Parts: sequence; C-alpha cells; structure tokens
Amino acid sequence: MLSLKPNCERCDIDLPADANDAMICSFECTFCKNCVETKLKGICPNCGGNFVSRPIRPHKLLAKYPSSTERVLAK
Ligand SMILES: [Zn+2]
Ligand SMILES: [Zn+2]
Repeated sequence: MLSLKPNCERCDIDLPADANDAMICSFECTFCKNCVETKLKGICPNCGGNFVSRPIRPHKLLAKYPSSTERVLAK
C-alpha cells in the first residue's frame, strides 16, 4: 500500500491524498507535477527512476487507511 506522503520533497508544497498533481517513483519518492516536469525532467533525483501519477485514494477509505503525515524534504 502506498504511504501517500503529504508534500513535495523538492518545493514542500502540500500534496494531500486527493491531490491530482502528485507524482511518485517506484520507491515512492514524491514530488509535485510542476517540479517533475520543469525541474526534474521526469527523472527521480533520489534513485534515477521515472515517475507516474500517484493514484488518488478515495476519501471514504482514508479513515481506515490514512495517508502518511510525515513530511519528507530533500536536503
Ligand atoms: Zn514540487
Ligand atoms: Zn526515487
């Protein structure tokens, strides 16, 4: 199950579980679409992999399967 990290690792913008502009790599490094397209050129700076759009977890399931609240920010 995805942890659904709450922010972009690069610009720290909020990416809630229902954000439609969240992108993840296979390790679930999480960035906003803007950073992926304009800054990262589609390549994850942490692992070198590619990105896909993060699926949105339906709201009714978030109570049972909450998204992560641990903010991760690249140093
Ligand atoms: Zn960003
Ligand atoms: Zn990565």
